[in-house]
Amino acid sequence: MDFDDTPQEAAFRAEVKAFLAANAPLKKPGLIDGYRSGRPEPGYLERAKDFQCRKYDAGFTGLHWPAEWGGRGLSPIHTIIFNQEESKYDTLSAIFNIGCNMAVPTICTWGTPEQREQHVRACMRAEKVWCQLFSEPSGGSDLAALRTRAEKQGDEWVINGQKIWNSGAHYADFGILVARSNPDVPKHEGITYFLLDMKTPGVEVRPIKQISGSSHFNEVFFTDVRIPDSCRLGPVGGGWKVALTTLMNERHGVRESTGPDAEELLRLAQEVETESGPAIDDPSVQEKIAEIYTRSQGLKFTKYRGITAISRGQNPGPESSIIKYVAANKLQEILSFGLDLVGMAGPEMGQHTALSGAFQEALLYSPSSRIAGGTDEIMKNIIAERVLGLPQDPRVDKNVPWRDIPSSATTRRS
Ligand SMILES: Cc1cc2nc3c(=O)[nH]c(=O)nc-3n(C[C@H](O)[C@H](O)[C@H](O)COP(=O)(O)OP(=O)(O)OC[C@H]3O[C@@H](n4cnc5c(N)ncnc54)[C@H](O)[C@@H]3O)c2cc1C
Repeated sequence: MDFDDTPQEAAFRAEVKAFLAANAPLKKPGLIDGYRSGRPEPGYLERAKDFQCRKYDAGFTGLHWPAEWGGRGLSPIHTIIFNQEESKYDTLSAIFNIGCNMAVPTICTWGTPEQREQHVRACMRAEKVWCQLFSEPSGGSDLAALRTRAEKQGDEWVINGQKIWNSGAHYADFGILVARSNPDVPKHEGITYFLLDMKTPGVEVRPIKQISGSSHFNEVFFTDVRIPDSCRLGPVGGGWKVALTTLMNERHGVRESTGPDAEELLRLAQEVETESGPAIDDPSVQEKIAEIYTRSQGLKFTKYRGITAISRGQNPGPESSIIKYVAANKLQEILSFGLDLVGMAGPEMGQHTALSGAFQEALLYSPSSRIAGGTDEIMKNIIAERVLGLPQDPRVDKNVPWRDIPSSATTRRS
């Protein structure tokens, strides 16, 4: 494992630090950004677009992409370095994650010259915001079981169905959409991928109200939505492979985890007064913080193993599922202990509360980190099968036409 930057990486990190210091305010420690919490401040979108545009003009977008995609052709470690540094700043760039880190690489890999011309630069310069229209009410882990229908009529496709949990769809100009174009073949083979203009008649975005009272994601309904065949990405029925390109690139967009860590817990314990003095003087509090700090360090060094692999030109292995699983669960433990410390002030939100309410805000958001990007159970399956070499889950739907796979919606399908 390598903890240090190579001389080239160190020089690049210095370049990134200088750019960020000149162009973005520092983030308040532990606070999650307004886009993720679903509570953006007024003028949020304009500020986010302004920073993204400056980032593009300075050459910090698409760092590890080939030059023909408009990238800089550097190694993926450069993207990691940029993300590590950017996560210390309030750059608001989460809203461009789907467009820049998922849609653009997929369009560059599978798109026609016209599709690249229309979308790539506009997305990277923040002229257009994208959303991801993959998950459905009947399941997100088993994405290939999707039910939204795409039927070809002349030069157009007619889309009917529903998606759910679509982050930022209420801001989006375009969506990456997967739909079932052939129900008579096994589930992975009958899917087609589209680039959807969200202003098309028949597209309805309904915000989902979250526990915090705000709305980060949405349901999206399609009623006879007509998409020109020129907006199909990749071959008819080949959408699963195209979607895999999107999902693989999602990995490079993953940032440092958001929310308070052991350092913020320590600061909170120093700030909170109990009847017998500062909470930090209590040996049981000290013991808990020490335990969490130790686990945070373990996680940090496990992350370094993946980063070292990338720095050496290798792919990080399935071990990254361990990081996802441990980080999400550790975050909830930190938050729950933090709220125990503040006691009766726990339900209070806002700037006047300890550490500006970072713990309260993050607690409401934290369950999603155990679901988004792969649930705890899916992570455990990956660890079991690909790290420990245990047998795979039985696949009863293998080679069965999608139409014949039993489900609660079977009657609606036939
Ligand atoms: C904050 C957030 C943002 C999101 N943004 C988007 C977005 O922009 N676009 C989008 O398309 N989707 C988005 N999602 C959806 C996300 O991809 C899905 O929630 C996720 O894939 C899980 O799918 P599901 O919620 O349908 O749960 P399901 O897949 O229905 O799972 C339900 C439960 O069953 C368990 N389970 C499922 N399969 C197995 C198995 N094989 N073995 C053991 N247990 C299993 C799961 O772990 C879970 O506990 C977002 C989700 C969150 C939380």
